Amino acid sequence: MKNVTVIGAGTMGNGIAHTFAQFGYQVNLVDVSQENLDKAIATISKNLGRMVEKEKITEQDKNATLGNITTGTDLKSGVANAELVVEAATENVDLKLKIFKDMDAFAPEGAILATNTSSISITKIAAVTSRPDKVIGMHFMNPVPIMKLVEIIRGYDTSDEVTETIMAASKTLNKVPVEVNDYPGFVANRILMPMINEAIITLNEGVAGVEEIDTVMKLGMAHPMGPLQLADFIGLDVCLAIMNVLYDGLGNDKYAPCPLLVNMVTAGKLGVKSGEGFYSWTHGTKDLVVANNFKNKQLA
Ligand code: NAD
Repeated sequence: MKNVTVIGAGTMGNGIAHTFAQFGYQVNLVDVSQENLDKAIATISKNLGRMVEKEKITEQDKNATLGNITTGTDLKSGVANAELVVEAATENVDLKLKIFKDMDAFAPEGAILATNTSSISITKIAAVTSRPDKVIGMHFMNPVPIMKLVEIIRGYDTSDEVTETIMAASKTLNKVPVEVNDYPGFVANRILMPMINEAIITLNEGVAGVEEIDTVMKLGMAHPMGPLQLADFIGLDVCLAIMNVLYDGLGNDKYAPCPLLVNMVTAGKLGVKSGEGFYSWTHGTKDLVVANNFKNKQLA
């Protein structure tokens, strides 16, 4: 496999394009927004520059990587020569179903169609194509060039051959692929999101404050960051959407999203991207500052 098309040039798409290009693949990065494509190339260039500074790669490697990436806004021509397409567009079921119908129509017959979705059923996405055996989940972690894991999700009809090809391709990116089956949340979010949700319930019941909860998990469990800080980074809207997928898909009350999480999303407190979540993100330093709403407040 040499020719890879990445659909979506946002947070994940630029990292996925960067990583494939760095390991010698010819990458075509496609987005509906030219502005996002320009931003993605600038981000990739900046991130490669950092790797050069840290002497992880040379200036030549940086230029070669950038030279392996082309961009475009047209999906039809963008997938015409692809052997593998990795879709990393916005997390929205209807949008992904439309993109997969189009990719199925325009990509070569033998091309593998992968999705980086965090929570949408691979089987559901595969069902709108004429090649469900060639549809697979390739769930990279953020930031893609740094994180080692790729969760490889087999839909109901994904073939052994396609799974083996994608496991092998992930290894060529210096990643560690782990094969899992297609159930709500897969493995990563099935375990991570209920932990984050439980941290929010713990806060909401007044068991402890924001910093106390995060400190217990950081120092007690050796997590690099606490669950509330992590929720702010992921985006509280994304956390809520994934909890709803678990709740709807598994039909068990233990996955019900905490009402405090629902309230915060309704109020537009989405974490880092909106400037406020459990912490405030607008004070311009890396120090963690608890959001006003959670300062000196007895929540129970
Ligand atoms: P993002 O919002 O940063 O980027 C999405 C991009 O998709 C945007 O640039 C948008 O213009 C583009 N897009 C929208 N419609 C399109 C279309 N029809 N054709 C081509 N491009 C289109 O989103 P993201 O955080 O990069 O997430 C992308 C996917 O990766 C989602 O499925 C998400 O669940 C998954 N994911 C995200 C993370 C994360 O930490 N952000 C981690 C793992 C997986």
